[in-house]
Amino acid sequence: MKILVTGGAGYIGATFAFEALKNNHKVLVIDNFSNSKPEQILKIKNIFKENFEFTELDLAKEYRQLINCVEVFRPDIVVHFAGLKAVGESQSNPIKYWDNNVISSINLIKAMAINKVKKLIFSSSATVYGDSKFQPIPETAEIKSMSVYGSTKIAIENMLSEVAREGTIDVVSLRYFNPVGSHKEKLIYEDPLNSPNNLMPRIIRVALGIDKELKIYGNDYQTKDGSGERDYIHISDLIDGHFSAIDFIFKTHGKKIFNLGTGKSTSVIELIKTFELVNSIEIPFKISKRRPGDVAICYADPSLAKEVLDWQAKYNLSDMCMDAWVGVKDHGFN
Ligand code: NAD
Ligand code: UDP
Repeated sequence: MKILVTGGAGYIGATFAFEALKNNHKVLVIDNFSNSKPEQILKIKNIFKENFEFTELDLAKEYRQLINCVEVFRPDIVVHFAGLKAVGESQSNPIKYWDNNVISSINLIKAMAINKVKKLIFSSSATVYGDSKFQPIPETAEIKSMSVYGSTKIAIENMLSEVAREGTIDVVSLRYFNPVGSHKEKLIYEDPLNSPNNLMPRIIRVALGIDKELKIYGNDYQTKDGSGERDYIHISDLIDGHFSAIDFIFKTHGKKIFNLGTGKSTSVIELIKTFELVNSIEIPFKISKRRPGDVAICYADPSLAKEVLDWQAKYNLSDMCMDAWVGVKDHGFN
């Protein structure tokens, strides 16, 4: 199959592209390196000399080139990872996020429509559920934005629903919970220099000695130990979910939404303790005040994906903590 991967130099997109190439698909990655490095593409190119193409392009700004790319490559499906994802930055620079995330998606849909490419997998996020009172959260829960980043994901999902209802494209929107770790080859991993907002890359920065200690954002939440609870999911499980979604999308029409999570809730303190235990590294931390916009608890009801996609997460928290550290430790970081 020919797969166009947007944002394929990033953490999740590059891991997906790598696995797709391993499965003998032909892959064209588009990225503008706004939150990634060319080294990521070179790593993939060095292994998969056949079947892999890359075009540097800004989806939001280079519409003509995008149309041309889609026309020449003629993908069977597009997997749309490209987007900016830093919640804090989105609050201080809303226009940047609306411009980049929403305009990119509109341009992509238009380029697909013009070239009659019908199938799209979209990277959505659990952030669209806001501070849901339903835990674990089913796909039917109310949508609520807690940040500009969240608003852009909701806007794109709404646009995709309307375009899919009208019949131009079929969409599977995957709402990721908290992806961590690296795949079996440990070649692609979340760059701790590039993604300093999320918990796992920050733990890794402490493990590497870049940061002295980790700040825990609040220990006064109504959770098992007072720190925030999330649904961490191994990147390999997350990527498997995409291949299940690809199988499914060719048998369906319209727009479907699936949570990709484990259904297990883990606190910040539990994650730190597991990381310390499996990697034998101490992670000093101190309690700091709550981060604005954070919710106390957010974990998935993944039963729809199990029922319809025949997918469920296989890896546990220890695997995630080990595989998050080994990739960085063994290969260093760019
Ligand atoms: P990432 O930043 O590592 O990768 C995103 C890639 O998109 C980067 O390589 C960036 O350069 C590229 N990009 C951004 N804007 C672009 C544009 N206008 N044109 C071309 N390329 C552009 O992020 P990631 O963690 O791999 O996330 C991938 C997707 O998954 C994003 O849409 C993100 O919102 C979503 N998501 C991620 C998480 C997470 O915790 N990592 C959770 C939920 C949802
Ligand atoms: N967190 C923390 N310290 C950090 C980064 C994150 O205590 O340096 C907490 C955060 O408050 C939340 C959890 O870790 O409870 C996961 O945060 P992350 O940003 O990784 O994911 P999200 O909040 O987007 O689900």
